[in-house]
Amino acid sequence: MKKIEHIGIAVRNLKDSNKVYESLLGSPPYKMEEVKSEGVRTSFFKIGESKVELLEASNPESTISKFIDKRGEGVHHIAFLVDDIESELLRLKNEGFVVLNETPKKGADNKWVAFLHPKTTSGVLIELCQEIK
Ligand code: ZN
Repeated sequence: MKKIEHIGIAVRNLKDSNKVYESLLGSPPYKMEEVKSEGVRTSFFKIGESKVELLEASNPESTISKFIDKRGEGVHHIAFLVDDIESELLRLKNEGFVVLNETPKKGADNKWVAFLHPKTTSGVLIELCQEIK
C-alpha cells in the first residue's frame, strides 16, 4: 500500500456539504461524478497529496442511504492507493480479510476499486484503489 488516497464521507445532501467542505478546505471540488452502478454521486476535494470524497446516495437502495439510515452522516471509508490491486486482494485474503468484491470494479475518479468488510478491519470499511491507465 502506498498512501491514504482519500477519505470517503457519507452525506445527505451533496450540494450543502460541498459548500461546507469548500469553506473548510478553501477550494471547491475539482471533480463531481456519478457512479450509477453504485448508486452514488460524488465530489472530490484536494488537500495537498490527499483527497476527500463526499458521497451522496442517488437512490434509496444505495449502500450510502443504508449507511446514513443506520449511522447518520460521517466517515464512510478510508481508501488506500495500491500499485497492483489484484495481488493486494490476494495477499489480504490470505491474511484473513473479508473482501467484498473479489473482482475490482470501476469506481469514481478513474480508479479500480475493491472493498474490505469492516468486520475484519476493526469497524472501518477499507477501499483499495488503483489508477486506471
Ligand atoms: Zn472512495
